[in-house]
Amino acid sequence: MKKAFKKVFHVLYSLRVQLFLVLIVVGIVPLYFLSNIIINVHNKQIITSREDELKSYGTVISNLILSSDYLTTHFDSSVETEVREIAEIYDGRIIIIDDNLRIIKDTYNLEVGKTLISSEVVKCFYSAESIYTNELGDYIQITMPIVSSDTLTVKGVLVMSFSKKNINLISSKVSNNIRMLMVAISLVIILIAILYSIFVTWPLKKLNKNIDEISNGKMEEAEGIRGYEEVQSMADSFNTMLDVIKSQDESRQEFVSNVSHELKTPLASVKVLSDSLLTQDDIPVELYKEFLGDINNEIERMTDIVNDLLSMVRLEKNNPNMTITNININELIEKLLKRFRPIASSRKIELIYESFRPVQADVDEVKISIAINNLFENAIKYNFDGGWVKVALNADHKFFYINVGDSGVGIPEELQDKIFERFYRVDKARSRETGGTGLGLAITRKIILLHNGTIKVYSKEKEGTTFTIRIPLNYAAGETEDNSLEEGRDDNNA
Ligand code: ADP
Repeated sequence: MKKAFKKVFHVLYSLRVQLFLVLIVVGIVPLYFLSNIIINVHNKQIITSREDELKSYGTVISNLILSSDYLTTHFDSSVETEVREIAEIYDGRIIIIDDNLRIIKDTYNLEVGKTLISSEVVKCFYSAESIYTNELGDYIQITMPIVSSDTLTVKGVLVMSFSKKNINLISSKVSNNIRMLMVAISLVIILIAILYSIFVTWPLKKLNKNIDEISNGKMEEAEGIRGYEEVQSMADSFNTMLDVIKSQDESRQEFVSNVSHELKTPLASVKVLSDSLLTQDDIPVELYKEFLGDINNEIERMTDIVNDLLSMVRLEKNNPNMTITNININELIEKLLKRFRPIASSRKIELIYESFRPVQADVDEVKISIAINNLFENAIKYNFDGGWVKVALNADHKFFYINVGDSGVGIPEELQDKIFERFYRVDKARSRETGGTGLGLAITRKIILLHNGTIKVYSKEKEGTTFTIRIPLNYAAGETEDNSLEEGRDDNNA
């Protein structure tokens, strides 16, 4: 029972069913009331017109009675004929009463000579203008005074009762016709309601089917959905969403294939090295050490790749944890640069730091350190021995800017957009040599975006490269802008 009730309730929650029911209620219920009103008005109208007809016949009979002095003579052929004919035509009874309340004529011949005292009859004697109409079951009774036109006195009373059978027959015929019409109109309304509710919900069903198919791995665009503007805009949004999912899917596949490719090279090296050790006999210890050293290097490389991948994945989570603190950026840069001094001096690269003003900003210290470190590391890695790296820090009332410039190999103009992609490397061999994973700039860019900042690159081949980052001094969660690369490259703020 409960289940059945739930099922009915569930069906009622369907837009199609609701729309259908609303159309039925709005279309058919008023129609039902309207037809009843029409039938009633029509019935009343027939009865009133019949009453009017009878009243005018009553006046004719009254005039005949008075002119023939029927009330005293109790006989006149024209009165008799008229009364009999009218009573026959209308299937009724006519009684004539004199001023002593005595019945002098009864078309049924049942009450002649008797006295008739009814309130209507008595009231007629008091007022020459009163006509009373009563409905007695299937009969209409009209009681009207017979008034002398000279003296205006009531000489007698005419009581006419007529059967409504005839009227009822006509009105039931009319009612039947109206009801049949109503049924026909109702059927048309039901048909329209069914078609309309299907028409409105069909595009939604189709869209729903497309959405369901996504979970089965079938990513088909919702095409040919025609309907209301709202439904069409929903279909457009669905298609846009599908494009995003498709491109995410493609990028995921590309990412997986890149990762496999990246790991395959060191794995292949390890395999070759270990195979050659295993297949050769009497290998000198030095060769063993050398090969194991190479294997160790490859393992280190794989570890770097895996570590970078893990940081990447953590940053790309929908809600990466941001531990924001207000720190002194000048001190942070100095601390980070310090670590690079030994390697820079080993390659005779000059490290210059220029700070234009003290800067306090809201940042996630660990993350921003990784981002800045990557830029410093690249500036040294892709530099010539004896070159320079210039770091500059500046700020205005809203942002702080860090410039990392170098005198290194530079990046060809057409590849400058690509360097922020995962695993993209301009010179694969050089990057591998220097232990690069191709993930550094992708990680840096992600971190800058998480700080609602932008990163831009300016570079000339063989002359050098400058990275400029701009980050708001005050952190506002949830405002990440992902347009750092599209914003144009010549707006150097620092
Ligand atoms: P990698 O681990 O290879 O350094 P990155 O993502 O940090 O990866 O950098 C991507 C590529 O961009 C590098 O392989 C390099 O070709 C280029 N690149 C990055 N920084 C510089 C720079 N300062 N000078 C020249 N080329 C650079």
